[in-house]
Amino acid sequence: QNTSLSDSGQPRDELLGGLLASGFDEGSCLSRYQSSSYRRPSPHKPSSYLISRLRNYESLHKRCGPHSEPYKKALEDLKSDRAVGSTECKYVVWISFSGLGNRILTLSSSFLYALLTNRVLLIDQGKDMVDLFCEPFPEASWLLPKDFPIANQFNSFGQSSPNCHGNLLKNNMIYHPEKPLPAYLYLHLVHDYNDHDKLFFCDEDQRAIEKVPWLIIKSDNYFIPSLFLMPSFERELFNLFPEKETIFHHLGRYLFHPSNHVWGLIARYFNSYLARADERVGIQVRTFDSGDGPFPYVMDQIIACTQKEKLLPEVNVRGTVSAPSGSSKLKAVLVTSLNLGYAENLKSMYWMHPTVTGEMVGIYQPSHEGHQQTEKPLHNRKAWAEMYLLSLSDVLVTSSWSTFGYVAQGLGGLKPWILVKPENRTTPNPPCGRAMSMEPCFHAPPFYDCKAKRGIDTGAVVPHVRHCEDISWGLKVV
Ligand code: GDP
Repeated sequence: QNTSLSDSGQPRDELLGGLLASGFDEGSCLSRYQSSSYRRPSPHKPSSYLISRLRNYESLHKRCGPHSEPYKKALEDLKSDRAVGSTECKYVVWISFSGLGNRILTLSSSFLYALLTNRVLLIDQGKDMVDLFCEPFPEASWLLPKDFPIANQFNSFGQSSPNCHGNLLKNNMIYHPEKPLPAYLYLHLVHDYNDHDKLFFCDEDQRAIEKVPWLIIKSDNYFIPSLFLMPSFERELFNLFPEKETIFHHLGRYLFHPSNHVWGLIARYFNSYLARADERVGIQVRTFDSGDGPFPYVMDQIIACTQKEKLLPEVNVRGTVSAPSGSSKLKAVLVTSLNLGYAENLKSMYWMHPTVTGEMVGIYQPSHEGHQQTEKPLHNRKAWAEMYLLSLSDVLVTSSWSTFGYVAQGLGGLKPWILVKPENRTTPNPPCGRAMSMEPCFHAPPFYDCKAKRGIDTGAVVPHVRHCEDISWGLKVV
């Protein structure tokens, strides 16, 4: 097997089957053009309808983007604090919030929502989005200008903010014939949202939201599965994604191109440690238990899972001499974790003992940051580089509950083995299970039937939206 996948005789598909637009300056975003020589071609092709909707979106974004005439006009509404109704372009503003994995998922969700509602997506850079991603849309920027009138209020937006959609509903201040429509709505789609905020996912409420020029979204969740349960979006989603479990796979590859700085981290690491292997195994270890790791019950779980599922070879603990290597396979294992202990243990195990198959196993971990430090630029760049490197694996093991792992699996088009969340600090049995689909899980979906106006199990409404493997109350598209 060749290391440079583009050398396999197949022509390089730089634009991913038409998913990406041509005409970017290559030097400004090397990953956009070089990633196809690091990845195997995806067996999942974007639909021609998705491609045409993306091209239309790009021209909308160019026409309405920052500093355009329609943008300036829409700002007038915001300054007068009422929707005059003359605005030609409408917007979704995404607020940077939560860990990087969460942010990548909420950006994808907000983009799909913008696409479905013919709005333009602009992102608030905050402090922690700098130099992570390239601009995704040609000849236009997706960055919200720094002088955006209400940007200084973003941090204080919450459920009791005057323009919060749920709050307005609670106080009967919206859909009221005598009340003018506000120029903007704050949509609180964070995991702690209440029943009023959740009405965002009802068609009836969408009809009022539709008229408001500016929507400001704060979320830490992949909310796409609930969009699938809304009759008004159903047909369009079906046309965009005939192969349903590929939503994030396509949107992620369309939107998230590592910046040149991050691409350097990815390419150097890949070429130095992973490129020559016959097989690449990614293991993402994320623990949510208190105290300092490595936890022995998680270590045991990783070994039990990888050996039971034959992802890594067993070792002969009594053997000291390896079988003659010569032709034997080389497996490169990329471990990502905040803690160094798991990789160190694996490394030692494969150094001290020969494998029963004769395979050689190399263990690599790019960083061990100790704890989450979302406010530090280099910390975020490393996190992004590691999610991306994991996505270049042939097989992937991820941790339950982690959006970091979801990003890797989706970009890579991989159905991971998910390490079951340990209870009471003991190794679960079975240690892991295979994911049903490569889609991320929506951790905090509503359980509400908008028509009947009562609670229901939203994981049992349609066959393609089900409860997640790792979070029993979550929803995912399969
Ligand atoms: P989640 O909390 O697992 O859902 O993932 P998020 O990405 O939203 O938040 C976790 C954050 O912790 C990451 O963005 C990183 O800042 C940090 N982090 C967690 N695991 C790792 C890791 O394996 N490598 C690195 N570099 N950072 C990590």
